Amino acid sequence: MLNSAKEVVCQSYGNPSSLHFAGQEAKETIEWSREEVAAALGASSSEIIFTSGGTEANTLAYLDILGKFVKITTAVEHSSISKCFSDFVLPVSAKGFPDFNMLEDLLKTFDRPSLVSVMMANNETGVISDPENILLELKDKYNFVLHVDAVQGFGKLPIDINSMPIDLLSISAHKVHGLKGAGALFIRKDLEDYPQPLFVGGSHERNYRPGTENQIGIYSLGYMANKMHLDSFYKERTVDIKQKRDSFESKLADISELNGDQTHRTCNTSNLYFPDITDLDLFLELLSENGVAASGKSACTSGMPAPSRVLKAMFGEGSPRLDGSVRFSLSVNTSDEELSDAVSIIRDTVEQCVQLQEFKNE
Ligand code: PLP
Repeated sequence: MLNSAKEVVCQSYGNPSSLHFAGQEAKETIEWSREEVAAALGASSSEIIFTSGGTEANTLAYLDILGKFVKITTAVEHSSISKCFSDFVLPVSAKGFPDFNMLEDLLKTFDRPSLVSVMMANNETGVISDPENILLELKDKYNFVLHVDAVQGFGKLPIDINSMPIDLLSISAHKVHGLKGAGALFIRKDLEDYPQPLFVGGSHERNYRPGTENQIGIYSLGYMANKMHLDSFYKERTVDIKQKRDSFESKLADISELNGDQTHRTCNTSNLYFPDITDLDLFLELLSENGVAASGKSACTSGMPAPSRVLKAMFGEGSPRLDGSVRFSLSVNTSDEELSDAVSIIRDTVEQCVQLQEFKNE
């Protein structure tokens, strides 16, 4: 088998659907990746469908084009879920946890099959939606199909499909440092007649996802999934990053407040509210000019930045947190030196921004 990214990029010209040797060689890399992804999730390889990323995996899992289900999700999902029609949207607390009591009340009343989609961890705050595994208890009591958007959880939180009655689960390659434009959907094998493919075409990916496979993107996902077997993988990506993130936050604690639950969140995300900031666009622009890449708003359909839907759901429409909160993301590649530089730049930028805000308001 081709066994390096360079070989896959430069030498693998066969179409994985072709029966000749070049096609079969390409297919081998895809099937190897499928096994690696399955192993990282505790699934079987026949339950993994490759997609163009988390967005497609989520849409495939939750769109329900035949309208079989009553659909329920939460108010803080990624737009690839929130823009699929839902019958019910669960509110979240100020800490970012969905209202699972409301979910249970709803589940009691349905006489139609239901599909529930809840993210494993939030992309803006890192908050883990269900740290107490309430959903899994509800799954035992009520018969519903459960989709989990694990795009932010994969590679950071333990996932063992065998011990979790999840029916569908989405992941994305670029969130674990694979290539952008590849992802996968786990589809439990006993799930019948669902989901329906989003595209028409060939019979690739067990008829769930027609189209010639993005071999190099898929290989990048398999390659990273393979690394997850190493003991060092989780340590570097959880314990070490968390230590750096906590120290980063403590050095800004006198000028900022955390958004979301302090304890139950992914190790790399820091969503901070700066009470002195009232002009978020200006703050983000200055941070970027000064060399800190941070995000504060989500891009809405018109391309204009809109206030964060997630913070709105947590704190309400009129909250000052919508105008003064910024998300910082750390990675395994973030050095201590970069972090201490970032802290100084952020402190200076807050001061600069306060002066400019005052000047604008005079
Ligand atoms: N779900 C979550 C929670 C995400 O954070 C993202 C991307 O940021 C997606 C889905 C979409 O994944 P992709 O960018 O691979 O389409």
